Amino acid sequence: MDKAVRRITSDTPRLDAELLLAHVSGLSRSGFRAFPEREMDARRAAEFEDLVVQRAQGMPVAYLLGHQEFWSLLLNVSSSTLIPRPDTECLVEQALELPLPDNARVIDLGTGTGAIALALASERPGWVISACDLMEEAVALAQANASQLQLPVEVFQSRWFSDLLAASFDLIVSNPPYVASEDHHLDEGDVRFEPASALISGPDGLDDIRLIVDAAPSWLNSEGWLILEHGFDQAEAVQELFAARGFAKVESRKDYGGNDRMTLG
Ligand code: GLN
Repeated sequence: MDKAVRRITSDTPRLDAELLLAHVSGLSRSGFRAFPEREMDARRAAEFEDLVVQRAQGMPVAYLLGHQEFWSLLLNVSSSTLIPRPDTECLVEQALELPLPDNARVIDLGTGTGAIALALASERPGWVISACDLMEEAVALAQANASQLQLPVEVFQSRWFSDLLAASFDLIVSNPPYVASEDHHLDEGDVRFEPASALISGPDGLDDIRLIVDAAPSWLNSEGWLILEHGFDQAEAVQELFAARGFAKVESRKDYGGNDRMTLG
């Protein structure tokens, strides 16, 4: 394999291999590191090889394992949802810092695996949290994650606000698709295997954010907050959208990489 191909496939080949090996062997990574000479039966060896081949072709580790850790919660993932990212944990952190009542009504739009809603539910038992997604598979997956984790999040199908019943929220949170349709980073790495509908949002990546910011005020109570994840170079544009829609206290916040990754107001 030449260097360029290797870089595109994985930055962490050893870690990936260990995770896959741990998965098929039923051991933890530290477990088999402690007994490196342990034999593996033929069926498991074949299974491991098959996973390695798929990984070498670019399939994300999380899809091969069927799960991904997010905010210390183990979430089932499937190829119909985005794989939850560490940067989205920053969004959860910021949401938890907002001045909100103990019984806040919250909605996570485009929930995917349910990651944001479930992380919030695990931290704020008093909040009344719902989550929606356009994709039926995502709704089913988020519901399954909620019941597996025994977290009280109501999940239903809706394209952003379109199928919501009348309600007013204290917090609207979303990690919508925000990648520009021609963005070259879509040709590399895990994103190639993730659903385009969860990633791409028009020529400048802002189509869905515009929709959400535009509609949000009618779904928020007067002291309510909207917080959105967006691209590292979209903070200014998103702040303008918030301001144009009458939001106050509009600010952007950084992700773990130091990029302005979310805006709230
Ligand atoms: N941060 C993701 C990426 O660039 C995109 C996530 C999203 O569109 N919500 O790969």
